[in-house]
Amino acid sequence: MWHTLTAVADARRLDAAEFVKFAMASTDKYGICTDRVDPEVNTWHVDTLVNDFKVVASTFTATRCPKCSGEMRPGRALRNPTGMADVSSTKQLAGVPESWPARMTDCLKCTDCGHSEEDVEA
Ligand SMILES: [Zn+2]
Repeated sequence: MWHTLTAVADARRLDAAEFVKFAMASTDKYGICTDRVDPEVNTWHVDTLVNDFKVVASTFTATRCPKCSGEMRPGRALRNPTGMADVSSTKQLAGVPESWPARMTDCLKCTDCGHSEEDVEA
């Protein structure tokens, strides 16, 4: 049983252009038949191909805001390593780690709604 890459992308709601590009980069690995106008992948390899693509594609989708689908741009965010809020850096607190005050950390910030993904580690 063979499926065209575009049909698989359509059925799995994937970006067809990116999916085909990804698949065509590893035709041997996924046993893709390329001697047709529309490249086809065997049923045996569909799930592996789709799963592998999703791993790669997640790096693309991470650039889209999960809230409004706006464009996410790399930026910087304040990260409070202690988890304590409303603490002025002028206050001396016992037991505060040396990493205090909050350090700047890389993040992705939405250009539309300002939502930021702060768990992006460099
Ligand atoms: Zn947004």
